[in-house]
Amino acid sequence: MLTKTSSLKQLVILSGKGGTGKTSVAAGLMHLSASSKFAGVFVDADVDAANLGLVTEAKPLETHAYWGSQSAEIKPELCNRCDLCYQVCRFNAIQQPRSHQDAYQVVDLLCEGCAVCAQLCPQSAISMSKQQDGEWYRAHTPYGHLFHAELFPGAENSGKLVTTVKQFGKLFAEDNNLPLMLIDGPPGIGCPVISASGGADLSLLVAEPGVSGIHDLERIIQTLDHFNIPKVVCINKADIFPEGTQAITELTEAIGLTIIGRIPFDPLLPKSIVNGQPITKFAPQSPAALAIKDIWRRLKDILFNQDGIE
Ligand code: SF4
Ligand code: SF4
Repeated sequence: MLTKTSSLKQLVILSGKGGTGKTSVAAGLMHLSASSKFAGVFVDADVDAANLGLVTEAKPLETHAYWGSQSAEIKPELCNRCDLCYQVCRFNAIQQPRSHQDAYQVVDLLCEGCAVCAQLCPQSAISMSKQQDGEWYRAHTPYGHLFHAELFPGAENSGKLVTTVKQFGKLFAEDNNLPLMLIDGPPGIGCPVISASGGADLSLLVAEPGVSGIHDLERIIQTLDHFNIPKVVCINKADIFPEGTQAITELTEAIGLTIIGRIPFDPLLPKSIVNGQPITKFAPQSPAALAIKDIWRRLKDILFNQDGIE
């Protein structure tokens, strides 16, 4: 039986949009945590485009089906052709028979799984069946176990799959008495981000100076505020657009958020990605790696030494 350890700390890494270098920061933190006493478990919560495994030498260990949604199924032998299901389906997912030989059919792609037709069918001819919407995986990396997932094209409810993959990561951490669960969150501010952030002890927001950088940061801060999740900020490519970095600094000061690191532009970072390694391992003395090491020191203090967030 699994035992729950309340000492597990959850750190979620987010940005208001993709392409801010969030996954590179996550990979560096994975590598650094592995060589500290806070080695943990890792979750890639971007179920639409998981890529943390690509930069952390992940090797698959397990694959599991993800049964997300449900869809209606009609048993023609029970159907008396009353047409009620066709009339009540608001998603036009029921197809009427074209001839006497045909039966009522469900168009799987249109069915939203609301089960109204199954509840109202006078013949009990409609049942609901679960659909496989994706897969989730456990992988081995040199830094610890990585849980990630893939939502099949066209499938919905990515937030539920994020919750699923996080739950299995958490169980693994608790089962192995690991102190840290590091979650590389999805881009944006939608449902998957909320699922990735649920229960987090701390969020690290990776911002990038640029025209939309401030706006993206503001949006993710508002989302996390709503769920009372503590936040700290780091700025990636902090030296390429000083005015943008200054604007981010002013915003965080105005609302009382701490910037725990500024990562300079570093040409070795894309090279580390091509080589499939965290920058902290690929080029440990590079400017970006040194900045991420500083960030890890600050995060450790906040998460484990009760330094709190100024
Ligand atoms: S509601 Fe039931 S009985 Fe009526 S047409 Fe649909 S499947 Fe057939
Ligand atoms: S489950 Fe809902 S969406 Fe699907 S066929 Fe029935 S009424 Fe339509």
